[in-house]
Amino acid sequence: MDVNTYWNPVLETLPQEKLRQLQFKKFKRVVEWGYNNSKLYRRLYDEAGFKPEDLKTWDDISKVPLLEKESYRTAQAKEPWPYGDSLCVPLEKVTEYRQTSGTTGQPVFQPDTWQDWEWQSEMWAYILWAQGFRNTDRVFIPFGYNIFTAYWNGHYAAEKLGCEVVPGGILNTEERLLKIRDLRATAMMATPTYVLGMAETARKKLGLDPTEMTINKVLCAGEPGASVPSTKKRLEDAWNANVYDHAGATEIGGWSFECTSKPGGIHVNEAFFLVQLLDPETGEIIEEPNRQGKIVITSFDRVAQPCIRFDAKDVAMWSDEPCACGRTYRVLKGGILGRVDHITKVKGVLFSPVAVEEVVRSMEELGDEYELIVSKKGDIDVITLKVEMLPEAKATEDEVLKKLVPELRIKTNLAYKIEFHPFGSLPRYQVKAKRFQDLRKDH
Ligand SMILES: [Zn+2]
Repeated sequence: MDVNTYWNPVLETLPQEKLRQLQFKKFKRVVEWGYNNSKLYRRLYDEAGFKPEDLKTWDDISKVPLLEKESYRTAQAKEPWPYGDSLCVPLEKVTEYRQTSGTTGQPVFQPDTWQDWEWQSEMWAYILWAQGFRNTDRVFIPFGYNIFTAYWNGHYAAEKLGCEVVPGGILNTEERLLKIRDLRATAMMATPTYVLGMAETARKKLGLDPTEMTINKVLCAGEPGASVPSTKKRLEDAWNANVYDHAGATEIGGWSFECTSKPGGIHVNEAFFLVQLLDPETGEIIEEPNRQGKIVITSFDRVAQPCIRFDAKDVAMWSDEPCACGRTYRVLKGGILGRVDHITKVKGVLFSPVAVEEVVRSMEELGDEYELIVSKKGDIDVITLKVEMLPEAKATEDEVLKKLVPELRIKTNLAYKIEFHPFGSLPRYQVKAKRFQDLRKDH
């Protein structure tokens, strides 16, 4: 493989059966590593009566206990500070500290050795290559470089590919846009929310038309959206660029990518990660396509803090269509479909916020932002959907309602209390958007 080429036909087109053999070998190796070097895994497995030598066949993988985020938290914040029992190497081997954002509680601390850190950039290099990043690209990264993993590895991966990298660090949105324009940057990476927000700022505050700027490809990560067809269309139309989805996580690494063939979802990088979908209620492993399950992930090659059968609390489903790019890595249809705890029952019907996003963003009269609030009035569940009319919209609120209400009912089988808010009044987010609240859970 050339240094700057991250297309590995040996791995990426392996027949599924061969991939499973490779995955099993690597899975066994990381389980042994975790058990022998981390008090966290040893305790977890001993309590469940599991030993690495019990792993004899593929089906034995389901005997390995799941790791919850909470287990990292309980194991951490003690000696060796702050990683405690989750650390698998002597502290002096750790070269990088990062942490999760802590939006769902106490952050998880992430130690990486230099080998881990290099490996993470390698994983991102596969992502960028699959999305058409090449050494002719000038990549602008509009990200506040800090304690969060976010685009750090995207930065180093772009360098590995020979791209020219422009760190957009502490600049504000307007300064970033002007830099993109002045330097004629060709690619960038950010959350879908921020990519839409940047386009809005360019038009409204700077009088710049993003479709006439030089950005031709955008990697979206950090939240779902780029695999939602109506959101993808908005993103692509806003910048006149190809927009690609990616899902990853601090504890796991960059485990997935949409490729330039745009298969309507994300490939799992199966040579380096094992993704299993489990029925949220029975724990049964789902192999068939088009059935939603919660994602359980193993990273095969993380050394300092291994990630083995991690319950990522995300929901996804397998696609049954082969991808035109030629990769044999399986595709998760529609990308990440939501958080396990966001997919909830409302009025007895299974409700997924991402389906609402798809409808809202398919209405040309509505702005990009929306808010969804589930609450209780007496014994009855009420879903409030807040939207903004675009100032240039040609229809009235009543006319929009006539399209929106039936469309929502068809896609979600539910009725909504719809509120129109003045354009620009709903919250704008730079990193992780919080557009969904279930107030019933706060009681
Ligand atoms: Zn593909």
